Amino acid sequence: MERYQIAIYIRLSKEDDKFKEESNSITMQRILLQRYVAENFSDYDLLEFCDDGYTGTNFERPGMQEMLELVRDSKINCIVVKDFSRFARDYIELGSYLEQIFPFMGVRFISVNDNYGSKNYQGSIADIDVNFKNLLYDLYSKDLSQKVRSSLAVRKEKGQYVSGNCPLGYEKAPEDRHALLIAEDEAEVVRRIFSLTVEGYTSVEIARLFNKTQVKTPIEFKIAKGKTSREPKGDRFMWSSSTICQILRNEIYIGNIVQKKYTKDFVGGKNHLNPREDWLVTYNHHEPIIEKHIFEQVQEGRGLKRNPQYHSTHPLVGKLICGCCKKNLRYRRGLNPYFTCHNRYSNMLENCVENVNAMFLEQYVLFMIQDKLQADGELEKLRTEEIQRLDGEIKELKERRQLLNGRIQRLKQQNFEAYQNYALGKTDGFQADNIMVKSVEKELEDLNETVRQMEAAYVKMECDRDALSVGNEFAVLSKEMLDHYIEKIIVYDEQNIEICWKEKIRVA
Ligand SMILES: [Zn+2]
Repeated sequence: MERYQIAIYIRLSKEDDKFKEESNSITMQRILLQRYVAENFSDYDLLEFCDDGYTGTNFERPGMQEMLELVRDSKINCIVVKDFSRFARDYIELGSYLEQIFPFMGVRFISVNDNYGSKNYQGSIADIDVNFKNLLYDLYSKDLSQKVRSSLAVRKEKGQYVSGNCPLGYEKAPEDRHALLIAEDEAEVVRRIFSLTVEGYTSVEIARLFNKTQVKTPIEFKIAKGKTSREPKGDRFMWSSSTICQILRNEIYIGNIVQKKYTKDFVGGKNHLNPREDWLVTYNHHEPIIEKHIFEQVQEGRGLKRNPQYHSTHPLVGKLICGCCKKNLRYRRGLNPYFTCHNRYSNMLENCVENVNAMFLEQYVLFMIQDKLQADGELEKLRTEEIQRLDGEIKELKERRQLLNGRIQRLKQQNFEAYQNYALGKTDGFQADNIMVKSVEKELEDLNETVRQMEAAYVKMECDRDALSVGNEFAVLSKEMLDHYIEKIIVYDEQNIEICWKEKIRVA
C-alpha cells in the first residue's frame, strides 16, 4: 500500500484562550496528534500545519490554505485533527469536505476525538451528525448550535420553497412552483449585463445603452408574458443604473438564495426581520445563469477598465464604523464574507468588532430602511408627492417640446417659401434663416435631455419603491439607497447596530 503523507492540523482560536482550555492548547493538540499517528500508522511522512488565533468559521487561515494547497497537488493523502471543530465550524463546509472533496481527492480524514476516520467509516452526513452534536455540548455556545440547526434545515428544505416575484432571468417551473427555471430570453440580458461590466462598462452606461437599443426591461418581459399589466409613467419603461446594480449584486444568479428572512404577523400583517439563524440560506438552489468566477470578478471589480471603485466592493464599505474605536470597518471576502475592525490588531481595545457577517448586515440595513419607510407614513406621502411633481414636470416639458417642434416646422416652411419666391423670381435675394433653425434645434435637444433625465429619475424612484417594499425577498441593498438614506452605521456586534439616518429624510 502507498506510503501515507500525513498532515496534522492544529488550530487555536481566540475562544479557546477565553475558556482557558488547556486541552486545546497548541502543545496539547500536537502531542495528541503525534501520539495518535505513531500508534496507528507505521510507514508515513508527517507534516504539521498550524493556525494560531484564527476563527474556524471560514477557511481563510494561512495554515489551512497551505495544507489544502498540498492536498490539491496530491502531496497529502491523510489529514488528522483533534476534533471536527479544529478543521471547520461551518457545518456545510465541513460536510462538503467530508462527503465530496476528500473522497474525491483520495484523502483520508481522521478526527481523533470524534472517532471519525473516513477509511473505515462509510457513513453519511447523518451519522457524522451524532458525533458533531456531542462535540457541540463540549465546545460551543448556544449560538453555534442554532447555526448548525439552521444549516441542517437548509439540507432538509433545499429547493422546497420560493416565494415572491422572480427576478429577471428566472421563472417558476409550471409543474412545480417551488422551483426556479432559467427563462432563456431574460437570462441573455442578464449575461450581457455581466459581460459588459467585465468589459468595463459602468451601470449608468449599460442602462443608457439598453435604453438606446431598446432592450426589454424586467417589467416589459413580465408584461410580454402576461404576468403583469402596468403602464409606463414616461414615454416607455426605462433601464436605470440601480436596476443594473441590483442585478449585478444578486447572488440568485449563481444559484444561491436566502429565504425566510421575514415573518408576517398574523394580526396586522406587518413584516418582521427574522434572526439570522432562522434564515434559510441555500447554495446551489437552482441552475445558475452566471459562472461563479465571473460573478466574483464583478463583485471585486477586477477587469474593469474605468471607474473601478464603482463595483469594486461591498456597498456598505465606508458606511460602517466600529462601535468601540470609531474607525471604519473593513470588508473581508471569502466563503462567508464579513466585516471586521482592522484597528483591533494595533489598538488592543477589547471590544472592537471582530466578525460581523456581511450578508446579515446587508439584510439588516435593508430591512431597517424598508421598516423606516413604512413607519414614516409621511415619507411615503413625500415620495408620492415627488412622483406627482416629476409627473407634472415631465408633462410640461413634453408640451414645450411639442411647441418647439412646431416652431422648427414653421421656420423650415418659411425658409422653403422664401426660397420658392426667389426661385420664381418674385424676390431678388435669398438668405435662409438657418441660424434660427439651429438655435431652436439646440433648444429642443437640451429639452430632450432634460426629459430623459427626469424619466430616469422617475424610473429610479419606482425601482427604489419596489426594492424597498417590505417583504421583497429578492431585494438587494444598493450603494445609491445607502447614500440616499444613511449617514453611517455604528456596529458593536450583530445584536447591536445603530443606524444614523440622513437628516433630510427625517420627517419632523
Ligand atoms: Zn475598532
